[in-house]
Amino acid sequence: MMNDGNTTLDALKEQVHQLCLRKGWGVEGVQNPQHVAMAMTVEMSELLEHFQWLNPDDVDALMAGRDPERVALIAEEFADVMMYGLQLARTLGIDITGQVLRKIDIVDHRPPKSYNPRR
Ligand SMILES: [Mg+2]
Repeated sequence: MMNDGNTTLDALKEQVHQLCLRKGWGVEGVQNPQHVAMAMTVEMSELLEHFQWLNPDDVDALMAGRDPERVALIAEEFADVMMYGLQLARTLGIDITGQVLRKIDIVDHRPPKSYNPRR
């Protein structure tokens, strides 16, 4: 079974592409990246909805693993966001690992901001 420990991002991009092909989405499984980016924000809103109006105790419960039902709902929307992100990266030839590492390097070398939340 594929999981984070044994799956490359390229393989995951391909899984999403194969889904698009099976569903007949886009041209030969490639959807307009402008539409994909917009759809990604909609899915991000769906993810945020599961955090809406939570109080700090609710968030503590999430982080402590005491609310697996809500985590499952968040995970499903997170997957939607990621699937669009993977699709976008594949279509535009974005190497996710390279870009994330590049961004980490940029942030590493950026002067610290005055506001620095602990969590
Ligand atoms: Mg969704």
